[in-house]
Amino acid sequence: MKIIAICRNYAAHAAEMATSPNKPAIPSSPAWFLKPDSALLHDDKPFFYPDFSTDVQHEVEVVVRIDHVGKSIEQRFAHRYYSSVALGLDLTARDLQREAKRNGMPWAASKGFDGSAVLSSFVPLDSLGGDIQNLGFSLLRNGQVVQQGNTADMIFPVDQLIQHISQFMTLRTGDLIYTGTPAGVGPIAIGDQLQGILCGQPMFNLRVK
Ligand code: ZN
Repeated sequence: MKIIAICRNYAAHAAEMATSPNKPAIPSSPAWFLKPDSALLHDDKPFFYPDFSTDVQHEVEVVVRIDHVGKSIEQRFAHRYYSSVALGLDLTARDLQREAKRNGMPWAASKGFDGSAVLSSFVPLDSLGGDIQNLGFSLLRNGQVVQQGNTADMIFPVDQLIQHISQFMTLRTGDLIYTGTPAGVGPIAIGDQLQGILCGQPMFNLRVK
């Protein structure tokens, strides 16, 4: 399986990530990257802070799981390709990413390291009201809300993401799409408890060791 992650899919986060006024903060088409399956961190296992970074940051994201194989999926049919969602963290070694961007190099390591794709259990979309574009979610760091979003605010809705990505890559059963993070990304530290909430339901509780 593969993990696809979307960059800058919420305007307020795109603005906080803009490096200069010349660079458009909001992409004109979906921007995305891959994480390896070895990045997955399931079942509320602890995250061990890696020694290659001093600036690992949280990005809380709604995750869509692909139910069956598809290629060049039209947006109007895309909803047939998923039926459950989870909440995850796209953990990012921001210092490595900044360095790679500065040098014009790929930033795979900063986004693909072990444990960087935190994932809760999946719940049926129907149990959350059935509308993928109306899911409220938040991240609490040590009990304080640090990120809060609603999928209604996505720049590119899930069905458009599926159309876009599947032009290039066949989507297969079990593939995951991390759909982008809202504003409020920030550092994590050893000793933190990170709790993800989706539609009022606690989804994961990550300890940083
Ligand atoms: Zn992300």
